[in-house]
Parts: sequence; C-alpha cells; structure tokens
Amino acid sequence: MDSIELQTSFDTDEYIFREGDPGDCAYIIESGMVEISLNKEGRKLVVATLTKGDILGEMAIIDRLARTASAVAIVPTVVTPIPLDYVSQKIEQSDPTVRMFLRLAMARYRDLNARLGQVFEGLSVAQDMTPDDTYASTTMELKSVVSQFTEMQKRIDSAVTKPSYDSGVSVFGEKTLRDTKILVTEEKLLKSALKKMEFRLYYQPIIELSSNRIVGGEALVRWNHPSGKLVSPSHFIARAESCGLIVDLGYWIAEAACSFQGRLCNDLQRDIFITINLSSKQFEDKFLVPSLADIMDRTGARREQIKFEITESLLMDNPELATQMLHQLKETGAKLAIDDFGTGYSSFSYLHRFPFDTLKIDRVFVSAMSRSEKSNQIVKSLVNLSHDLGMDVVAEGIESGKEAELMHKYKTGFGQGFYFSKPVTETEFVRLLQRPKIELAG
Ligand code: C2E
Ligand code: MG
Ligand code: MG
Repeated sequence: MDSIELQTSFDTDEYIFREGDPGDCAYIIESGMVEISLNKEGRKLVVATLTKGDILGEMAIIDRLARTASAVAIVPTVVTPIPLDYVSQKIEQSDPTVRMFLRLAMARYRDLNARLGQVFEGLSVAQDMTPDDTYASTTMELKSVVSQFTEMQKRIDSAVTKPSYDSGVSVFGEKTLRDTKILVTEEKLLKSALKKMEFRLYYQPIIELSSNRIVGGEALVRWNHPSGKLVSPSHFIARAESCGLIVDLGYWIAEAACSFQGRLCNDLQRDIFITINLSSKQFEDKFLVPSLADIMDRTGARREQIKFEITESLLMDNPELATQMLHQLKETGAKLAIDDFGTGYSSFSYLHRFPFDTLKIDRVFVSAMSRSEKSNQIVKSLVNLSHDLGMDVVAEGIESGKEAELMHKYKTGFGQGFYFSKPVTETEFVRLLQRPKIELAG
C-alpha cells in the first residue's frame, strides 16, 4: 500500500473511536473538529481539541495496544485514515535503531499517559476535600506530569517526522509542516469568524437565592460555526489567547455585553447587572481600562451594573500588573468578581489584596457538598470570610434543588447553574426577566 486517499466523514457527536477499542487506524483531520477525552469513573475529561491538519489515534497503531482515549467529532468532520498495515510496513522498513527508539518512546508515553489519568483522578478527589496543601501538591504533581508528557510528545513527534524511510506518501513527514499550517489556519479561521460576526453572546441568569429572582447575567461567548453547531468557549478561548485574537474578541464581547446592559437599563428599565469574563492576555493591553470605560459609556451601560470576572490564574501570572489594572478598573466604577474560586491555589491572601466585590465559588465545591462534610465546612467559612471582607458570594454550577437549598442555608446569597437556567440568548434572557420568579429546571 503506497498511498492513502480515501476520506471518511463523521457527523457531529459521532465517535471516531472509543477508549478500549483496538487501534486499526490513525487519522489526519481534513476539516472539522475532534474532541479527545478520557473517561474517569463516568466523568468525561477533555484532554485536547484537534482541528484541520492534526493527527489522532497514532499511538494505538504504533504500538498496537488498545485506544487509551475516545475521539468524537464535535462538528461535521472529514478525516483521512492511515491504516495500521500501512504504518506497520513503514516501520518495518525503517532502521532497527529508529524502531527500537520508537518502541521505547511509546512505552514511556503510555506510562506517562496512565500517570496523567491517575493525577487527574487524584485532582478530582482533592477537589472534593480541599485542604489547601493537598490541593496545591496535587496541582504541582499534575503540572510536572503534564510537562513530562508534553516533552515526550515532542520527542515522539520528532522521531516520527524524520523522513528517514521511503519515498512514497510521507504521511508523518508532513506533520511538522502541517503543524505550522494548523496554527496559521486556526488563527485565520478565528480572525475570519470575528470579521464575519460568527461569535454570539449567551447570558446565564444569576439568581438571588432568597427570592429566586434574576438579578444579573453572565455573558458567555459561543462560536456559531458555519456547520450550524455552537462551539463552546473551552474549544477556542485558549487558541484565541495564544494567537492574540482574544484582545479584539474581548472588545467585541465587552461591546455586545455592555450594549445589552444599556438596553436592559434604558429601554426595559430593569436593574440587572451583566458580568464579563476577562482573560489574562487582555491585561497585557495597556489600553484595556480606558477602552472598557469608553465602551461602557458609548453603549449606555451603567458602569456600576457591569462586573468583570477574573480568575486566580490571571492574578498569579502577573500579580503586579494585575494589582495595578484591577485598581484602575475599579476606579472606573465597574465591579470586580473573582471567578472559579477553589480551582486554582485558592489563596485567601488574594481576597484582601485585590478590590473584589464578589467571590464566585467554583462548581466543584458546590457539587462536592452533598458528598463531603469538609466541603460544607469550607463553603461555610468561605462565605463568612467573604461577607466579613465586604464581598457578596455567588455559588456557580448549582444543578439541583438540594444544592440551591444548601447554598441558601449557608447564606451564599446568589447562585447560578443549570438548575435555574442554562446560558440563553438575549431574547430568551429578556423573556425570563418578564416572569416574577425563574421557573426551575429540575
Ligand atoms: P466561567 O466563567 O466559570 O463560566 C461558567 C461556565 O460554567 C459556563 O461554561 C457555564 O455554561 C457553565 N455552567 C454554568 N452552570 C453550570 C451547571 O450547573 N453545571 C455545569 N456543568 N456547568 C455550568 P461555558 O460557557 O462553556 O464557559 C466556559 C469558560 O469559558 C468560562 O468559565 C470562562 O472561563 C470562559 N469564557 C466563556 N465566555 C468567555 C468570554 O466571553 N471571555 C473569556 N475571556 N472567557 C470566556
Ligand atoms: Mg465566569
Ligand atoms: Mg466560573
């Protein structure tokens, strides 16, 4: 077999392979997007999102063991399969030293892969309990395994990209070229998506737990992919950050969210605040604060009804810059929230060093509360401490009436989650506001 021509199409949500399946093919993505995930005790753990030019499923055909992850198309996707026979033949034809190194590298790669899975499991257990030090040490271990894993991936990539054999179709030999192309293509794709206005803002209601009334909404971006599928921000925000597009995208998001707040307040006469997520890359833009102030004014938004959400990682990446920017942002009259509290280092020192108005407790705590007494204690203390420091508290990811009740009992004040409402369009959000109380989903 000297050439690879046949392409295969997969519909949205169709599996290309599942964890445990025997490996008979690797695949090159010709178009679309594929999500790679592990299954940890029934929990799906997404480890990568691959797009045009990426290769997947190569491990199982190099060492002929079962698949260690699942691959699913998240938009309609076309792939070119690279069959096992084809690769085996190429490997057999290669230099014995290359074969030996490849075998060795694969054994270590599998071992690291297994350890990565274990650390993720450890992390989820630690998130249930969360004494600070257990959490920090698990995070450090995770970082170290991830960096070893990445290093190993690089070595395998460079081993297999060497076109040391054959003059036929050099599938692997194309990978480095493809890699650079992918980055450029993805960047182009995202830029053109912004130009073509393919991004949409959804709003998830934030509820006052004592009255079940909507008091605010979090703006959450989605990519309305030309295939018709709404792509989640977890699939493109990181890429938008790494290619710098997040700055322009961030301004588009701020403009859209502030315009919506302006309409709520001026046209509908509703006192509803809107929160906007900021990423650390946006903080590197020295015009960020004056530009946001300008956007708030131009759009007719009430500055005190706009709240910017910032994660702990942003504070840790560059604490000096963060301190300076957050104080400037606060001076505009807008509000500040610390997002996903409990997923990073959860250092309490942040809480009085930075001028936050709101603390958002991450959903890992909320879901752990029904299982772990310690999580209950942590949440209670966190809520008390936040109130003592003058902050209000939002519990994220409330999925059941029981969780809502517990959060209300612990005086969390505000909640957000699928139990109340998923993120919805502007029109749907306004419709929800017309009701005296939010109708509960569960
Ligand atoms: P986040 O800021 O913590 O947003 C909350 C996420 O939790 C949203 O996911 C929301 O849909 C999800 N969520 C809410 N309630 C529940 C629940 O009850 N159960 C579960 N399982 N999930 C719930 P989404 O929209 O996929 O956003 C993911 C993350 O992407 C956000 O986390 C935020 O970090 C980032 N992101 C979203 N929109 C933007 C944006 O406009 N700008 C920036 N820089 N980042 C954004
Ligand atoms: Mg947020
Ligand atoms: Mg959050």
